[in-house]
Amino acid sequence: MSITPHYASLMDPDDPACPIRRQAVPHAREAVEVPGDLRDPLGEELHSPAPELVQRYPDRVLLLATDRCAVYCRFCTRSRMVGDGGGARSLAKLEAALRYIETNTAIREVIVSGGDPLVMSTARIRALLERLARIEHILTVRIGTRAPVTIPQRIDDELCDALRTHPALWVMTHFNHPKELAPAARVALARLADRGIPVMNQTVLLRGINDEAAILEALFRGLVRERVRPYYLLQADPVRGTGHLRTPLQRGIELMAALQGRLSGIALPKFVVDTPGGRGKVPVGPQTLVAREGGRTTLRTFRGEEVVYIDPPLGPGPIESARRS
Ligand code: SF4
Repeated sequence: MSITPHYASLMDPDDPACPIRRQAVPHAREAVEVPGDLRDPLGEELHSPAPELVQRYPDRVLLLATDRCAVYCRFCTRSRMVGDGGGARSLAKLEAALRYIETNTAIREVIVSGGDPLVMSTARIRALLERLARIEHILTVRIGTRAPVTIPQRIDDELCDALRTHPALWVMTHFNHPKELAPAARVALARLADRGIPVMNQTVLLRGINDEAAILEALFRGLVRERVRPYYLLQADPVRGTGHLRTPLQRGIELMAALQGRLSGIALPKFVVDTPGGRGKVPVGPQTLVAREGGRTTLRTFRGEEVVYIDPPLGPGPIESARRS
């Protein structure tokens, strides 16, 4: 375990159910395994073409640049490897992974993750991004990090300069509760946005922590205010020992139904399940398609009304007809 002074300062010392405390302080229930629990829920070890590399989709790869984090989250999908002792990976250690990326031109995006890559030294981050920027077919780099949440002071000017080393770098943060949008975290997010670095957020749905519509609404509104786009609300992965933190899938669907129409499109993330075994993400949501027959589709709006949408008649469109005549 590891908890930064900043993250500890957000905890309510008198509340054992404090949402910040529950994300970081170990609980005896972590020793309990429930049906569905997996050591490697996303099958990353089975989809690893080179050391420290995971490929589950043809156009992108996940580069595991370190096993260190500022705070070890109790729900972590990679609890099997984080804090394992290897620390930040040198470029020499990542060489086989980088060579795989260089020789596979179908790969267009590298997601640098870990552990938390922003816990690595700035010089190491810069060197890695310079190397990735030299690979022509890599169009974008994403950095997955909880540093703005757990150690926001890390997002300083020197780090922001290093992040600009790659011309198309996106930062993916991981705020789970509005309490995490503390003043220091807001400064960190503003620093990234002011430097022109696009920031998106992935929230994990956690039982007793953020599984209420009002909490998620406050979180997503707060993120948009800080110029962060809520990207995914993730069903918690079935990581071994996290059954007490997971919600039934139905809860996420109900929450999305409650938030639809209450939040604008830029504040409403997609609710997804990352399927066990690494078969890819599946978006899930309230049932909005009621019936479909002969070009007539009945849709259910966020108010529960049923509205019919009529398809245009089939046949050549105006452009096609004009070409024929
Ligand atoms: S920061 Fe990310 S990788 Fe590290 S423990 Fe938390 S969820 Fe896992």
